[in-house]
Amino acid sequence: LATCDDCLKDILDAKNRRCGHAFTNCTNCGPRFTIIRDVPYDRKRTTMAKFEMCEPCEHEHHNPHDRRFHAQPNACKQCGPVLQLRVEGGSTSDDADLVKTKGLLRRGRIVAIKGVGGYHLACDALSAESTARLRSRKHRPHKPLAVMFRDIAGVKELCEVNEAEEAELLSAARPIVLLARKLTESRLARSISPDTNTVGAFLPYTPLHHLLLQDFQALVMTSGNLTDEPIISDEAELPTLLGPIADAALMHNRSIVHKCDDSVLRVVNGQRQFLRRARGYVPNPIRVAAPGMPHILAVGGELKNTFCLVRDGQAFLSQHIGNLKNYKTYSYFSSEIESWKHLMRIEPQVIAHDLHPGYLSTRFAAIARIPNKVGVQHHHAHIASVMAEHDLHDLVIGVALDGTGYGTDNTIWGGEFMVADRSDFERVAHFKAYRLPGGDKAVEEPWRMAVSVLTSEGLEEAGMRKFPAMKWRLVEKMTKAGFNSPWTSSAGRLFDAVAAILGLCDVTSYEAQAAIRLESIADTRVTDRYPFVVQTWDRPWVLDFGPTVRAILTERRQGVAVSEISAKFHNTIADSVVHTCRFVRGQRDLNIVALSGGVFQNELLLRRTVEGLQSRRFRVFTNTAVPLNDGGLALGQAAVAAERVKRKCA
Ligand code: ZN
Ligand code: ZN
Ligand code: FE
Repeated sequence: LATCDDCLKDILDAKNRRCGHAFTNCTNCGPRFTIIRDVPYDRKRTTMAKFEMCEPCEHEHHNPHDRRFHAQPNACKQCGPVLQLRVEGGSTSDDADLVKTKGLLRRGRIVAIKGVGGYHLACDALSAESTARLRSRKHRPHKPLAVMFRDIAGVKELCEVNEAEEAELLSAARPIVLLARKLTESRLARSISPDTNTVGAFLPYTPLHHLLLQDFQALVMTSGNLTDEPIISDEAELPTLLGPIADAALMHNRSIVHKCDDSVLRVVNGQRQFLRRARGYVPNPIRVAAPGMPHILAVGGELKNTFCLVRDGQAFLSQHIGNLKNYKTYSYFSSEIESWKHLMRIEPQVIAHDLHPGYLSTRFAAIARIPNKVGVQHHHAHIASVMAEHDLHDLVIGVALDGTGYGTDNTIWGGEFMVADRSDFERVAHFKAYRLPGGDKAVEEPWRMAVSVLTSEGLEEAGMRKFPAMKWRLVEKMTKAGFNSPWTSSAGRLFDAVAAILGLCDVTSYEAQAAIRLESIADTRVTDRYPFVVQTWDRPWVLDFGPTVRAILTERRQGVAVSEISAKFHNTIADSVVHTCRFVRGQRDLNIVALSGGVFQNELLLRRTVEGLQSRRFRVFTNTAVPLNDGGLALGQAAVAAERVKRKCA
């Protein structure tokens, strides 16, 4: 919980014994999950155990009238944790560390700063030079960087903030909230988020942050990790950051047991949408079933992994774990599962997993000593996560627009319409399948997907642009021969293809970059759309966007602005979803639509789809408690497993 107002007063009050103390807290604020070694929650089972309380602190701790009564991490300057600054190639100093840290930041240096759930990499957000240096050292040329502002007034100076967004920013969980940049403001370096018109903003949530931000309007505070690796939380791991990236590290001696990233969310149509769920929200449970069920472990997907434990019908979704293909992240995944099982006193009898045989989480489930294994199709899990959140039990129309997920026909799905309940689903329609030339390589290189779509639609010559001819021919051949090119009905890949056709992104430097650029340039005033076809002569129905791509090429040749083409493409996809849902309603008499999958992180697409469905009087549900990307998958897997177990027992 973020530092409360009373504690903030204490640290800013020159006469208070906690003035300037970076580890001040009380029962209303401070760390908890990240410092717990065991339950019940008691100081001796936290990483505060080694700090013996001084007499005044002890007194507060035992005084029922004090707001620090039983505040387990209670501490002060006399008895609590201490800061220590280590400068690269230099010595460590003992006093005035905070002052020196601020001096380094002011001079444009990058400092690794230990927080609640791990290290941040910090630099002055108003200095284009510092952020550029951070980007080049972190090998992260474009992915947005989070910015911590001194206070809400500072945020409002540079970003548009509505009431709901302000409430999220100021909530005790203090998430990173995606906000629209003020177009008239140029003080915040453009390089903070070069691909988007948004800024990931958040406010100080520890006394240390408050003390640091006294001297800055805004600091970049990005996760202290290497790409795909877990956030660094221990001084032993510090050489990864200090030297290669950071010029100095501000450490402290309160250990972190559970790494925990900052949560990231935004407000769409007045509703919360999580992009990453971690600090401030875990381990708050979500009810998925009636009590009295066997314990369940759901191991999630592979990217943006989270796992989920179920006990007494309550689902505990883990903090963001990350990309399991990275060995350190996989180790973190398996050790956190063990640790959570212990903390929650859960001994799973059922393990739920994705159907993808290559996912490391699937392999983890295969070798786990839990006899009852439940495989859950990727997009069914996405839809079930919405059903679990909103307590839906009857059949729904599920629309999962996604990057990639393994289908029951061994191809890669991702533009899926299903009639589903919690235990099973029927695939009623899907986006037309194209080849994915080079598999994962095509995910990183959207131009390959453009070649695949254009080749398959017979539009090679019309669509040819600056792609090197040699490689174009190679990928064209791969596509035609189907060599190392699995079929995919992915909606995400269609966005990639269109972005590449429009020349917005040939090779990505982070996930979904092409789609993000495509969304960012869209002129939202445009309401037209392109033609598309829903082929209904066979089941499942196929949504064919060949005519869409053809029209895009024509308009491009005619010189129509890319911003207009992008908007029309978004409108086309949204319309095709509404159209298909109406077909399904006509046949099945279902009126509830559940939307999920990472592609719906596209705000324009989500808005247009929800508006369209609601205007046709559908009841529309989407994820608000967990991410609609693969970070929410484990909740859906858990809900499906719970339902299947229940039916088997009934
Ligand atoms: Zn407090
Ligand atoms: Zn004390
Ligand atoms: Fe997915």
